[in-house]
Amino acid sequence: MRSVSVLGATGSIGASTLDLIRRQPGQWRVVALTANGNAAELAKLAREFSAEVAVVADEAALPALREALAGTNIQAAGGEAALVEAATREADITVAAIVGCAGLAPTMAAIEQGRAVALANKEALVAAGSVMTAAVARSGATLLPTDSEHNAIFQCLAGNSYDNVRSITLTASGGPFRDWTLEQLRTATPAQAVKHPNWSMGAKISVDSATMFNKGLELIEAHHLFPVGLDKLKIIVHPQSVIHSMVEYRDGSTLAQLGPSDMRVPIASCLAWPQRMETPLAPLDLAAIGELTFRAADEERFPATRICRAAAEAGGAAPAVLNAANEVAVAAFLDGKFPFTRIAVLVEQVLARYAPPSPASLADVMAIDAAARAEACSVLELVT
Ligand code: NDP
Repeated sequence: MRSVSVLGATGSIGASTLDLIRRQPGQWRVVALTANGNAAELAKLAREFSAEVAVVADEAALPALREALAGTNIQAAGGEAALVEAATREADITVAAIVGCAGLAPTMAAIEQGRAVALANKEALVAAGSVMTAAVARSGATLLPTDSEHNAIFQCLAGNSYDNVRSITLTASGGPFRDWTLEQLRTATPAQAVKHPNWSMGAKISVDSATMFNKGLELIEAHHLFPVGLDKLKIIVHPQSVIHSMVEYRDGSTLAQLGPSDMRVPIASCLAWPQRMETPLAPLDLAAIGELTFRAADEERFPATRICRAAAEAGGAAPAVLNAANEVAVAAFLDGKFPFTRIAVLVEQVLARYAPPSPASLADVMAIDAAARAEACSVLELVT
């Protein structure tokens, strides 16, 4: 029997993870399950999986969680410190699936314990960058990339040296607006942005997919996970989302990973690593799919990938500032306070206004994140 903790258990990645665990009865012991404020769903999951502990980050939700877990042996806890404590609990694999920089401290806590961490929470790695990779090296933790693109690259790289890599190509679906004109993009609504053509995901990453910030964040994520140099990292739009990414070697061979657009595939790869496990997905039917097409990313309509590449090149605090500004802008867009096309503008404005020194510790990253959010909110107030 293996043990697992799921940070962000009530979200889209959390649900996909627990779906796979549910299908292997008797093979998993669930240690910690966490959420932000959704106490009812968290309690339901904690009861179903007989979790050791259930934690809500938002302390206001703790009384409801306690009430929903009354009569069980499951510990209920709330607040940031409890979240971090849950993340440090011994588990064979800790799934980091909280959305945004809010997942950074618990993810780092699991890393500091030397755990195997299935990392979906890309914002944490984007913000912390070398602070996180240094902690991985120091603690001996294993980072298993769960983002479908990075999981694909991880699989394509298996057993090969970075010296042999000519390039790594991240594929992008292009999101729901890939064929929209700039004029149309100005009128995009939150409801349209969260309706992804291929993937079913949480609201924040769906908007990131629509702006292409998702691909930009993934570029920065790949830069840290696979240190081949930024100049070797490419992005291509592949509307069918069948090829999840590719690695080209210096002998001219390109290895690609293909699969259905369902996060249970990369999650299963992490849960079972270095073995494989069954998933309930239909086999890939390439004849039915018919054709796989590709096109260059259009950085005029979708400047996010250009902005992210520049932040990655600048290094230091820039990716943390970019990530914080994007989180603020996406939240404002989802609240209906802010036009879609202003998201990228706001991120660039914040990057131009706030350039702190490089972070050397988790505390530095969190301080930069907080200050960048404040800067983003003040820019937002000027324009809304
Ligand atoms: P969701 O919005 O569906 O779920 C987010 C989870 O995080 C929920 O459990 C939520 O709890 C919890 N949460 C939200 N805010 C906080 C907070 N402040 N403190 C603690 N917990 C919090 O997100 P997704 O599952 O879509 O995405 C999770 C991560 O995985 C993101 O970083 C995303 O970029 C990445 N990812 C997602 C993919 C997908 O297909 N969904 C694909 C690849 C990567 P509550 O329910 O209580 O709000």
